Amino acid sequence: MVGGSAAGFYTAAEIARGGRRVRVLESKPDLQPAPRTLIVTNHLRNQLGASANDCILNEIRRFELFTDGRSAQVALAKPDLIIERAKLIPSLAREAQQAGAALSFDTRFLGLAANAHGLRLEVESAGRREELHAASVVGADGASSRVGRVAGWPSIETVPLVQAIVRLPKDCPPDTTRVWFVPDDTPYFYWLIPESRERAALGIIGEDGRETARCLEAFLKRKGIEPLEWQGARIPVYRRWVPIKRRVGKGNVYLVGDAAGQVKVSTVGGIVTGFRGARAVAQAILRTGHGGELLALRRELSTHWLLRRTMHHFQQRDYSRLVDLLNASTRGTLSEITRDESTRLLWNVLRQQPRLVLLGLRGLLLGRNGAKGRS
Ligand SMILES: Cc1cc2nc3c(=O)[nH]c(=O)nc-3n(C[C@H](O)[C@H](O)[C@H](O)COP(=O)(O)OP(=O)(O)OC[C@H]3O[C@@H](n4cnc5c(N)ncnc54)[C@H](O)[C@@H]3O)c2cc1C
Repeated sequence: MVGGSAAGFYTAAEIARGGRRVRVLESKPDLQPAPRTLIVTNHLRNQLGASANDCILNEIRRFELFTDGRSAQVALAKPDLIIERAKLIPSLAREAQQAGAALSFDTRFLGLAANAHGLRLEVESAGRREELHAASVVGADGASSRVGRVAGWPSIETVPLVQAIVRLPKDCPPDTTRVWFVPDDTPYFYWLIPESRERAALGIIGEDGRETARCLEAFLKRKGIEPLEWQGARIPVYRRWVPIKRRVGKGNVYLVGDAAGQVKVSTVGGIVTGFRGARAVAQAILRTGHGGELLALRRELSTHWLLRRTMHHFQQRDYSRLVDLLNASTRGTLSEITRDESTRLLWNVLRQQPRLVLLGLRGLLLGRNGAKGRS
């Protein structure tokens, strides 16, 4: 396993539990992941069981959507979870170790090639070059995966995500996430996620790194909010399915998590989908399951890609209409089904509010015609 982070440790634990020998290679010197406030659906509890509790900071029961002076509210039947990545990853590492996986820090993957029986890996461990041998290699090494590159996968497009940790504004309840659609700043959105009664993460996804950071600074200033610390990185944009396996000689190479672009492109969430990809890779290596997990993940990622294509060229009046159309019945559907069941969610929303189909078609046409004008 190359990469000791969310997807890597989750996959390692699954494979080790299935009775295979696993070694995780992580380039960082120790287990001190950078803090990052993340929002995930309740589905995480099914994936992690009781150990999810180690990293949960807060629960979100409502979303408030804002655009151009309008707002809509959506209550969640099953609360979303706010988790701290710096707690999640050590907890996953412990699980992998308890299942029997060996962890090697300060060990950087450099390259791989076929050998007589499987794969030969070149790594640098504590400054020294080493050669390792394995039947299978899993690349869980993030958005700019070296494993993917050397095994012949095309590189994955990424977008910048920047968020500031701020004091929770007095008018924002700690169980409510706020989302602002500001198409002049970004085709994505701004969000405010409370991690406690005192603190929240306020962030933006954009297209150009510098411009995205500048927009966030201006947005904070407009709202009179002081940043306490900054978090950010580039995250993959899912545009098409990335096959998870390649054959190199007699060995198998797999990709998982951000390395395979397993990120919901409409909300840019990669934790729950990365774990689904992890389970699919573990099943492929252990030869269990029948590919159902992979099919479900593919369907999920494609639905989010359709949603993103629909909204990517929305102008201000489209967002205003969207927020207006989120009437009581649509809001009911949104609240009952999580964003990790997006196909069911989409059909239910469209059945209850057919005018959203027209709005969606307009969005797709705007994208096809390359509309730039924003009103
Ligand atoms: C600021 C921010 C906020 C986010 N918010 C959310 C959110 O709210 N909800 C959500 O679901 N997702 C969110 N995401 C996305 C989510 O964090 C990622 O999808 C997820 O963490 C990816 O995990 P991963 O294990 O696939 O990759 P990574 O976490 O990128 O891990 C890759 C690992 O591989 C190691 N590595 C890389 N190269 C090598 C090498 N050559 N040799 C050995 N090791 C190597 C790295 O050191 C790293 O530890 C956010 C991302 C960012 C940046």
